[in-house]
Amino acid sequence: MRRRDFVVAAPALILVGCKNMDAGGALSAAGDLAKAASLTDAEVSGYAAQMVAAQDKQAKILGASSKYGQRMAKLTSGLQSFDGLKLDFKVYDSNQINAFACPNGAIRFYSGLMDAMTDDEIRYVIGHEIGHIKLGHSKSRMQTALATSAAQKTAASSGNTAVAVLADSQIGDLMAKVVVAQHSQSNENAADDYAVQQFLTKIGSNKKGAVTALEKLAAMSGGGGGWTSTHPAPKERAERMKKLIG
Ligand SMILES: [Zn+2]
Repeated sequence: MRRRDFVVAAPALILVGCKNMDAGGALSAAGDLAKAASLTDAEVSGYAAQMVAAQDKQAKILGASSKYGQRMAKLTSGLQSFDGLKLDFKVYDSNQINAFACPNGAIRFYSGLMDAMTDDEIRYVIGHEIGHIKLGHSKSRMQTALATSAAQKTAASSGNTAVAVLADSQIGDLMAKVVVAQHSQSNENAADDYAVQQFLTKIGSNKKGAVTALEKLAAMSGGGGGWTSTHPAPKERAERMKKLIG
């Protein structure tokens, strides 16, 4: 494991900030929250699609013919839709050990995470990220971000019927709040449970990947950035998963 990879080659979005931009402060403005809550699923999805498109453009995508693209295609075969969700997987060329999911079904893996993990461990991460979408965590982050970001005015002006086109700066602000912000512990546990009890059960995969993936992340944490900064407490979660699997 190349721990120092955490601190090199960080894409711009990671530098925008992390835990300081969490939803706690954002939720204090009741009026903003009401506006965010009024956004429809289609609107949230439309803004998420713009955000992911911008991120895809900025990143170097390892395509279908690459080693990473082929491995990801194999791991996600048959998962274009799962549990009522339409999913889209891509791999970014980056040493970061990271992955994220957006409410429009986009799931992005960084090649550093794929290098660090076995197929079973990656399947757990896939299930965990699908869990964040299925359980509405990605959507609520997006709603909160839309309510408190530079995109708010544009989103509000579109009314509840159309998705406005966001400016680059607004998209950057959303990325910082949706992708880089840390998930809560309860959301993490819920997504872990989903990964093991729903996803890995349904696809018939080895559940031990959940434990070993989290143990690997725990051993690496302290390096800063990456999946452990947005997905906290891997050591405790590995213990939980051990008990859950039995
Ligand atoms: Zn998570």
